[in-house]
Formats: sequence, C-alpha cells, structure tokens
Amino acid sequence: MEKDVEIGIFGGTGIYDSGLLEDAQEIDIDTPYGKPSDTITVGTFKGRKIAFLPRHGKKHSIPPHKINFKANIWAFKELGITRIIAPSAVGSLKKECEPGHFALPTQFLDFTKSRDGTFSDNGKVIHISVADPFCPELQTSILNVTDNQNLKTHKNCTYLCIEGPRFSTKAESKFFRTTDADIIGMTLVPECQLAREAQMCYASISTITDYDVWADKPVTAKEVLETLSKNVEKTKKVLTELIDKIPKTRNCSCAKALEEAEF
Ligand SMILES: [Zn+2]
Repeated sequence: MEKDVEIGIFGGTGIYDSGLLEDAQEIDIDTPYGKPSDTITVGTFKGRKIAFLPRHGKKHSIPPHKINFKANIWAFKELGITRIIAPSAVGSLKKECEPGHFALPTQFLDFTKSRDGTFSDNGKVIHISVADPFCPELQTSILNVTDNQNLKTHKNCTYLCIEGPRFSTKAESKFFRTTDADIIGMTLVPECQLAREAQMCYASISTITDYDVWADKPVTAKEVLETLSKNVEKTKKVLTELIDKIPKTRNCSCAKALEEAEF
C-alpha cells in the first residue's frame, strides 16, 4: 500500500473528481476500527501526493453521527499522511458571520453525545492536550490563502459541535448563543482530537451556510444545500492554492502530542 502520501483532505468534491489529479487511484483500506467512509482517492497534485476522503461517503450517505471517525483518521495514518485539511459546512451563531463567509475554527465546544472519540482504548491511558486543538502552522497557511483570495474569513472562531443529524431547537440555539461559540456544526469533534492523538497536523476551514434557527427564518436542509454548492467552488479554489502553500517539513509540535500524554 501507498505509504508516502503527504496531505489528507476530508472532502474535496470538485477536485478529486475533476481530473486535476495525476496518477489518481482509488484505495480500499480496512482498519482495526472498521472501514473508513469510502475508498480513498490518492494522486499527485502540483508535485505533492495527496488523498481525499469525503467524510459522509462519496454519495453523501453517512449522517454525522454514523461517521467512523477512528477508521477515517487511521486510514490516513496508514497512508503516511501527516497533515489533514478538514473543510466543513457550518451554521452561524453570530450575525456578523454571514452565509457565504469562511470561518477558521481555533477552539471547539463539544456537545456531541455518543461518539467514540479516542484511540486510548486498548490498555493504554492517554490524556492529550487540546488546549489549542488545531495545528498553528496549517492555520497560518489557510489564512494566507483566504487573504490572498480576498475571501471574507472570520478568524479565531469557536466551533460548537452538536450530535445531529437533526438541527437545534430554538431553545438550544438560544443557549448556544450565550456561549463563546461563533459557528455550529456536526463533524469537527471527535475528528480533530483523534488526529491530535495520532500526532497528525489538523486544521479545519469552514464555510457558513445558514443562520441556524435563532434568526427569524428556521434553517432548512434545502437552504443549506443551495449555499453549500456555491461554497464548493470557493473551497476548491482555496484547497488548490493551499496544497502549494503547506510547508514541506513540519515546524509545529503536533508530531509530539503523545510525549506528555501517556500515563
Ligand atoms: Zn502541526
């Protein structure tokens, strides 16, 4: 199996299926945690070996609470990947975070309920630090690209992760707005913390699709999908430039995440 893939992307519709990749191949991986969301598309882009795995599956058939996050992260690790870029679609909890804007999560609040969020389950007790859950180096690269492309991007966002697949009640949304959170979604946790446990660099770039339910008009799946398709093009542009901008070697501490975490 390929062991020399550098960068993994959770998503990437519009790139992996557009013929931009050289030597593209589909890789079927099994992990100790089961199958990842789909086959993984691996190929070369601008001289760098990258992999794409849509977290909801290529036919978008896996709801957020059924995503096998452990298998997805493990499969990327098996391919040799050290950097993960995680595009996602989110709702907004703040008026100024408008649909169509980008948001860079730097913190999260975890309101998920039933997810398996650790590899610490085979006799090894590990307590990783997620005080700063994302790779600062990847985040700098992302912001360079969004600035370069003049995309309205909210920096230092707190992402509130809910269980889904349903949207929030008005009472929940009202409560979430009393927290520090700026954006709300269903997939960031435990994906980012598993990447940290696997000592991989991870950063997310979110596109805002709607105002959740606190605004006058409740969110609908149709509304989300419409903004989503507009955002796909923008995200594709960000990713294609970003792959070039990621430094060749890691100068962050993500590779040492377990050094002070084991009991
Ligand atoms: Zn890093």
